[in-house]
Amino acid sequence: MDKIKMTTPLVEMDGDEMTRILWQMIKDELLLPFIDLKTEYYDLGLEERNRTNDQVTVDSANATKKYGVAVKCATITPNAARMTEYNLKEMWKSPNGTIRAMLDGTVFRAPIVVKGIEPNVKTWEKPITIARHAYGDVYKASEMKIPGAGKAELVYTAEDGTETRELIHEFKGAGVIQGQHNLDDSIESFAHSCFKYALDTRQDLWFATKDTISKKYDHTFKDIFQEIFEKDYKKQFEDMGIEYFYTLIDDAVARVMKSKGGFIWACKNYDGDVMSDMISSAFGSLAMMTSVLVSPQGYYEYEAAHGTVQRHYYKHLKGEETSTNSVATIFAWTGALRKRGELDNNAELSAFADKLEAACLKTIESGKMTKDLALITSLSNPTVLNSADFIKAIRAELEASL
Ligand code: NAP
Ligand code: MG
Repeated sequence: MDKIKMTTPLVEMDGDEMTRILWQMIKDELLLPFIDLKTEYYDLGLEERNRTNDQVTVDSANATKKYGVAVKCATITPNAARMTEYNLKEMWKSPNGTIRAMLDGTVFRAPIVVKGIEPNVKTWEKPITIARHAYGDVYKASEMKIPGAGKAELVYTAEDGTETRELIHEFKGAGVIQGQHNLDDSIESFAHSCFKYALDTRQDLWFATKDTISKKYDHTFKDIFQEIFEKDYKKQFEDMGIEYFYTLIDDAVARVMKSKGGFIWACKNYDGDVMSDMISSAFGSLAMMTSVLVSPQGYYEYEAAHGTVQRHYYKHLKGEETSTNSVATIFAWTGALRKRGELDNNAELSAFADKLEAACLKTIESGKMTKDLALITSLSNPTVLNSADFIKAIRAELEASL
């Protein structure tokens, strides 16, 4: 069989620990034998980030702007323990944070749904994708403890010195206050990323805030989404037969629990923080969750939602067998390859991505899986495979389908 050709390279961001080991296995077993793989390689492993003073992370984000599609391995975000472990010059920032700031993107997280791993919510048949606005609100708030009686106000001083005031509260006794903000620019970027991703994945988009209570703050989110929708996306949504649906956050939560899934749920920062943990744990496993960063300009960076699986890596270093689930990392590759195929009109490449995903699901559905899934599967007598054998089992399914 001739290998599938690529015209434009993917930006490949290598990473750390157990996922770095899986990364190489995935390339060797599932990609290189079938594709004439073109990538521009950036080593985001912690040693290389330290050696280059994190320039490699910046370079990889710039390459993503150039080529449009990246695939990223999980990386260590350094903490005090990592400073000594890797003898770091500095506590380098999270690569995901750096890349997200440079691409101004929104992260979409979706569970990989497979027969045998049933969600806790019985009605959920299709994945629910969470899009979390990753700027501002309570995460960039100023807070004050109010010791006793007094007046608290919001004060905005314009550049020309004029002040606008709004009473928060006339305190009769002790209490607390908080000042939150957000930016129209950031909300607009968030909205564009959400509408683009809905079109891209042919799914309805839901958005919810508490605009009935927060008539200026949350209402601004609602208005910006509505304006952008009417102006730039309404026609395209109609043509594709998908819907933009706005409701109150409590109504959205109630509807989500009764839904069949299969839509994107755009969340304000706090709602996304809380609800993404609920959705991911209710769908089964962090090892079965994909993640894609979508910029308002339409750049895409695909990755797994989990980390570097440090505990498994230390076992691996001691020569012990690991059973680490590679599915989310494989889906990062397939997501990126499919998108590259779409952008380059390379149907063969996109079809390969579909087949590789199907091979992963078929492997699990046939009862062959890693330990994390064996613990939660509804299939009886699953076969637990180690990290390498699981990937080999997927390869066998893939070869059968090609
Ligand atoms: P983790 O890598 O997500 O793993 C936490 C635990 O979840 C594992 O010990 C394992 O449980 C289970 N798990 C996660 N992924 C799995 C998989 N693919 N297969 C099987 N089990 C899986 O989080 P962590 O170990 O706390 O963090 C390690 C490093 O990852 C940290 O340095 C952190 O900074 C980094 N991190 C990176 C990203 C990213 O790059 N996107 C995201 C999160 C964290 P058992 O041990 O019980 O088997
Ligand atoms: Mg959280």
